[in-house]
Amino acid sequence: MSSPSPHVAVLGGGPCGLYAARVLTRAGYAVTVLDKGDRPGGLATSHLRNGNWYDMGCHMLHEFDQEIYKDIMSIMGDESIPVQLDAKIRWAGSFYRYPLQPKDMLRGIDFFTLVYYVLGLFAAQFKSSMVPWVPKNAEEALIMLYGDPLYEFFFKDFTHRYWGIHPRELSATFITTKMPRLSAVDMIKKYLAKIGIKDRAIQAVDSALHEETLHYSRTGAEAMPRFISKAVQAAGGVVVQDAEVERVSIDPETNRVTSVRYRKDGMELELKCDECISTIPIPHLVQRTEPPPPESVQAAAKEIRYKPIAIYGLLVNKPKCIDALYIYYRDRMFHRVGEPKNAGLTVNPPDHTLLIVETTCEIGDEKWLGTDAAKEKIYADLELENICTRDDVVEAHLLNGETGYPLFSLGFEPYLDAVKDWVKTVPNLQSVGRQGGFSYPNMHSAMRIGAKAAEAVMKRS
Ligand SMILES: Cc1cc2nc3c(=O)[nH]c(=O)nc-3n(C[C@H](O)[C@H](O)[C@H](O)COP(=O)(O)OP(=O)(O)OC[C@H]3O[C@@H](n4cnc5c(N)ncnc54)[C@H](O)[C@@H]3O)c2cc1C
Repeated sequence: MSSPSPHVAVLGGGPCGLYAARVLTRAGYAVTVLDKGDRPGGLATSHLRNGNWYDMGCHMLHEFDQEIYKDIMSIMGDESIPVQLDAKIRWAGSFYRYPLQPKDMLRGIDFFTLVYYVLGLFAAQFKSSMVPWVPKNAEEALIMLYGDPLYEFFFKDFTHRYWGIHPRELSATFITTKMPRLSAVDMIKKYLAKIGIKDRAIQAVDSALHEETLHYSRTGAEAMPRFISKAVQAAGGVVVQDAEVERVSIDPETNRVTSVRYRKDGMELELKCDECISTIPIPHLVQRTEPPPPESVQAAAKEIRYKPIAIYGLLVNKPKCIDALYIYYRDRMFHRVGEPKNAGLTVNPPDHTLLIVETTCEIGDEKWLGTDAAKEKIYADLELENICTRDDVVEAHLLNGETGYPLFSLGFEPYLDAVKDWVKTVPNLQSVGRQGGFSYPNMHSAMRIGAKAAEAVMKRS
C-alpha cells in the first residue's frame, strides 16, 4: 500500500458498505462510512419500539460464504444465535416446507392435480427442448420453468399482487436472478432429463437448501451490523449515522470523485476522498453527482425503480403464534409472516410474542401509510390464518422502506446498463450492493460484494 493511505468514502452503511469498510480498515485504510439511517444495517436492521426490536422484514444470516461467516462469528461471539431453517409455504389449504419438497407435494396435493402440474411441466420442457424459446417476459419465463398449470395456479396472481404489475410487465431477468427453483420441480426435471428431455431453456437460481443453519440474535437483525460497525471503528474507521449524502463531486479535469457532501444535524458537511464506494440506490447516486452525468444517463436513471415495502411489527398477547420461523402466503394482504421469537428474539413481556408482517406497497397507499383500514385488513387475514385475533394485537409499529426491492420491470436492462457504464467511466467510483448494484444479494453475498469493492480499491492504491 502506498503512503499516505487513500481516504475511502463509503456511502451507505448496510451490510455491503459496512463490510467494505471492515475489509479496508483491517488493511489499514482510512475509511468514513456515511449512512442516513439512525443505526447501522440499512434494510438488515431492526428498530427499537417500546422496549422491543422489530426487524425490517425478518433477517437471518446464511452460512454459505464461510469466510464471511467465520469473520462475523469472530466479532459477534455468543451474541449470534444459531437456528435451524424452518420456513413454510401456505398453499391450497395446507402447509408445505419451504422450499417445496416432492414428498410433501405428493402427500398434500391430490393425485389428479399433481398429474396435471407434471404434464404442464412436461409440455413446457418438451417445447423448450424442441424449439429455441427465449422468454419475452416473466410470465413466459415462469411458464418455461414451471409449466402452464403451476404458473396459473401458483405464480400468476401471487407475482401480480407482490409486484403490483402483471408478470407480463416484469422482465424475465427477475425470474432468472431472483426466483429460487422449486426443488420438487428440479427433481421432476431430473427425471425428464433422464428420458432425454433436457432443460436447455433458461437458467434460474438453484433451489434453496432444505436444511440449513441460520444466525440471529436476541435483539434481532440489528446486532450483526452493529458489531461490524463497532469493529470498523475499533480499527480506526469512522461511521457516521444520520448522515444523508447530498452531493458527490467529480473533478471535471480528472473525472474522479474528490469529495462528498452530506447533511448531519442540519449542517452541510464535506468529506474529501480519494476513492468512493457507493451502496446507495444507483439512481440516487446519479441524481446527486456534480457535475451531473450526460442527459441520456440521467434519463436512464429515471427508469430504474424500486418496489417499496411496508413492514408491520406486531406485539401479540400470545406466547407463540406460528410453528415456523416464517411462513409465505400467496393470497393475503401480506406475503410473509415471521415470528422472530422462534429464532431467539427476546420479547417483552416474555409471555407475549412478536410478528413481522411483510407487505409490498406503493408510496402513499394505505399499506404505506398504515391506515386503520390497512391494519384491519391485515388483522382479518391473520385471523383467517389462525395466527392471532384482532384483540391479541397489543401494539402495531410500521416500518417503511422506499427501496425495498429492485423492480425488474420489462425492458429495464438497457437503462441499468447505461447507468452502470457511466459509473465505470469514473475511475475511483464503484456502485455496488443491493441498491447500488440493483440486484438481489442476501446479506452474506452483499458483504462479499463489499469485500470485492474494497479489494478493487486496495489493488489500485
Ligand atoms: C423483507 C426483506 C427480508 C430479507 N431477509 C433476508 C434474510 O433473512 N437474510 C439475508 O441474508 N438477506 C435478507 N434480505 C436481503 C438483505 O436486506 C440485503 O441483502 C442487504 O440489506 C443488502 O445490503 P446493502 O448494504 O447492499 O443494502 P442496504 O441494506 O439497503 O443498505 C443501503 C444503505 O444505504 C443507505 N443510504 C441510502 N441512501 C443514502 C444517502 N443518500 N446517504 C447516506 N446513506 C444512504 C441506507 O440508509 C442503507 O443503510 C431481506 C430483504 C428484505 C427486503
